[in-house]
Amino acid sequence: MTRVVIVGGGPGGYEAALVAAQLGADVCVVDRDGLGGSAVLTDCVPSKTLVATAEAITQVRESGELGLRVAGASPDSGDISVAVAKVNARVKALVRAQSEDVERQLQREDIRVLHGTGRLDGPDRVIAHLSDGDLEVLDADVILLATGAHPRVLPDAQPDGERILTWEQVYDLDELPERMIVVGSGVTGAEFAGAYNALGCDVVLVSSRDRVLPSEDADAATVIEDVFTRRGMTVLSRSRADKVQRVGDGVVVTLTDGRVVEGSHCLLAVGSVPNTAGIGLEKAGVAVDGQGFIEVDKVSRTSARGIYAAGDCTGVLMLASVAAMQGRIAMWHALGDAVQPLDLELVSATVFTAPEIATVGWSQADIDSGRVQAVGVKLPLAGNPRAKMQGIHEGFVKLFCRPGTGIVVGGVVVAPRASELIHPVSLAISGRLTVDQVAHAFTVYPSLTGSIAESARRLHLRDQSPDR
Ligand SMILES: Cc1cc2nc3c(=O)[nH]c(=O)nc-3n(C[C@H](O)[C@H](O)[C@H](O)COP(=O)(O)OP(=O)(O)OC[C@H]3O[C@@H](n4cnc5c(N)ncnc54)[C@H](O)[C@@H]3O)c2cc1C
Repeated sequence: MTRVVIVGGGPGGYEAALVAAQLGADVCVVDRDGLGGSAVLTDCVPSKTLVATAEAITQVRESGELGLRVAGASPDSGDISVAVAKVNARVKALVRAQSEDVERQLQREDIRVLHGTGRLDGPDRVIAHLSDGDLEVLDADVILLATGAHPRVLPDAQPDGERILTWEQVYDLDELPERMIVVGSGVTGAEFAGAYNALGCDVVLVSSRDRVLPSEDADAATVIEDVFTRRGMTVLSRSRADKVQRVGDGVVVTLTDGRVVEGSHCLLAVGSVPNTAGIGLEKAGVAVDGQGFIEVDKVSRTSARGIYAAGDCTGVLMLASVAAMQGRIAMWHALGDAVQPLDLELVSATVFTAPEIATVGWSQADIDSGRVQAVGVKLPLAGNPRAKMQGIHEGFVKLFCRPGTGIVVGGVVVAPRASELIHPVSLAISGRLTVDQVAHAFTVYPSLTGSIAESARRLHLRDQSPDR
């Protein structure tokens, strides 16, 4: 029986464990913080639970045109309040339940779970320092490293867990911050800024770039920035935080150009650092890049034979779905099952702002830079009948296809629940469908997906030449 030892029980680790058990291996997972990993304990699950509350408030607050009245007042008047302690208690309960679910799932498959810290002791052995103080030596035929990452902090901005916070610490707040300064306008910063703004907090978003969400579709990012400012958020573009200090009951953020921003709390969202220090990589011959991410190929192999790595510790694409797929691929490969190399062009991802931005495949930037030859259309949702009925004014659908063949290669949806709407585009890309095939599939009338079919129809004659 092949002995598989997995270090880290996040999506990269636990999904791999399930595949390895299915393929008949003897599997042991060593995990330090709780099954489900950061994805369940501190990142995806809690943040999207918080976002669910923010989304509900936004919907009610912006439903004045639908004729809603809240407690005799207009929903636009902003008098909906939120019980933060209750929201956070719900977040924590959900996180615990989800982590327990994952642990039970592994136990059902006879996967051994050790609570503790693992490190490599050469290329075929892991030493587990268990949380009860014991030590266990685990010999392995196959090792998977899936140790994840943790929040990066700035040298002059040390979190104190009360006023200067990482995204892992916000769920301990009992009250809504009066004025939250969010440093960093990438996906995490934008999601939290949007959510806290909806909860009723005065939010200042410090963005070092020209616009928020610099890595996203530029049109989509513009929609979000416009929505943010319309809802009263202050967005400071081209502003880089130099230091964050606690002053009395508040915080002071000093920008690199000397400007000072005052608030009650500061949330740092400036990226992640891989959990790869002190886990014996060098001794085992596992190569890392300049930032400490483990180098892997498309089937998750590291530079050391028999050692694989998956998820945030590889820095390939920091998403739970990608971590899980890397982990599964590693096991399919290691245990001799059929395996497809990781294809990042098939990954769909969402920024959970309101509206959401969902993307898959090649991007507008890829096309504009000439990296890929494709043509596209952009349809504003304002023209969609369902959007009109639901009072949706912002957002759009973009679809890209190959000139000549019309094969769908990318898409962007900016809409409420875009995370759900992107799936047909994702299916079209992975199934190599043409715009005509997408256009011929029925959509419900009225529906937002109607705009995806409409985009495909509009590309019917434009798929012959990039210039048309
Ligand atoms: C705020 C936020 C929101 C996010 N939301 C989403 C989202 O909505 N959708 C999405 O797809 N992605 C989201 N992500 C990204 C996602 O959380 C990560 O990509 C995902 O958690 C990576 O999974 P992983 O298995 O690599 O690592 P993790 O989930 O970090 O799990 C790693 C595990 O390894 C353990 N560990 C570390 N070192 C050791 C050791 N030496 N020994 C034993 N155990 C160890 C840790 O305790 C942890 O349990 C979000 C990220 C952030 C920061």
